[in-house]
Amino acid sequence: MKYRFTKSIPLPYCKDSRILESCIKCKNNSCIDVCPQNIIKKDNYKIYLDFENNGCIFCKKCAIACNEYSLSLLDLNLENHINANISINEAKCLAWNKILCSYCLDACETKSIKFYNMLYPEILESCSKCGMCKSVCPTNAIVFRGI
Ligand code: SF4
Ligand code: SF4
Ligand code: SF4
Repeated sequence: MKYRFTKSIPLPYCKDSRILESCIKCKNNSCIDVCPQNIIKKDNYKIYLDFENNGCIFCKKCAIACNEYSLSLLDLNLENHINANISINEAKCLAWNKILCSYCLDACETKSIKFYNMLYPEILESCSKCGMCKSVCPTNAIVFRGI
């Protein structure tokens, strides 16, 4: 169970993803209801972010709702960042296979993807792990893992 949880992408404003195990006990689900991007999901074992169709805009609505109506597990004082690892699967990425594509960079607000001569994208340190790039990649080449 824990293995599945730690591989999931945790919510923003969460210092330690293990505290989100307590979310399973929360009956309000207020963060899920207020998220304008509809990326917060919950099953019987965990709460997590799903970047298949959208990314996080760091609006803080989930953390505000958690503090006002739920278990106060999210901390509004934390920076706009998600505790996850991100990588590009070079075998799947069009630009790593010499086909021009920049959907990920176009979607990235912080311009945290570096291309070399319009090819071979790499994720930079400034990446907030917002997931926008994953939601637009046509080949599902961007891989996220919770820490
Ligand atoms: S910060 Fe906003 S967009 Fe991101 S998960 Fe929370 S409610 Fe959704
Ligand atoms: S959007 Fe996907 S396929 Fe296109 S360059 Fe970015 S990672 Fe590669
Ligand atoms: S590279 Fe990082 S900051 Fe840019 S869209 Fe992807 S996850 Fe967001």
